[in-house]
Amino acid sequence: MRTLAIIKPDAVRKNVVGKIVSQITESGFTVLGMKMIRISRQQAEAFYAVHRERPFFGELTEFMSSGPIVPIALEKDNAVTDFRGLIGATNPAEAAEGTIRKLYASSLGENAVHGSDSEDNGRLEVAFFFAEAELADNLS
Ligand code: ADP
Ligand code: MG
Repeated sequence: MRTLAIIKPDAVRKNVVGKIVSQITESGFTVLGMKMIRISRQQAEAFYAVHRERPFFGELTEFMSSGPIVPIALEKDNAVTDFRGLIGATNPAEAAEGTIRKLYASSLGENAVHGSDSEDNGRLEVAFFFAEAELADNLS
């Protein structure tokens, strides 16, 4: 099963990309694809379209387009649930000890990492950032 991780601009600015990638791979995830990019406000709005009516949509899309991000296509049995466990609660104040958000998030909005919330969204979100041909399990 696939899931999409994104190391968000706050964590890139804190220079903890390497530490987060290490924690992800040490937790049994295989990296199929990874890149550092900057997305436009419009791309952030498209990625988070499900949240467009929420009061934090403007803040979220401004933040996600404020600097480089690192989308990572991950593979693992039970990837979606296991990755949500690894990152912890949305609000770092409520995230369990040792989770990526507990360790690196700054606030509820600037919370270091994204993780897909369902198997379908994992597939769709990986496809938002990666062409199928550039993922490691499609290279020969
Ligand atoms: P998650 O990322 O844990 O799946 P959501 O899908 O509910 O959480 O929200 C998407 C992102 O929007 C969060 O990771 C966070 O960056 C931001 N966000 C969520 N709720 C708030 C809020 N109340 N205020 C500001 N930002 C928020
Ligand atoms: Mg979500």
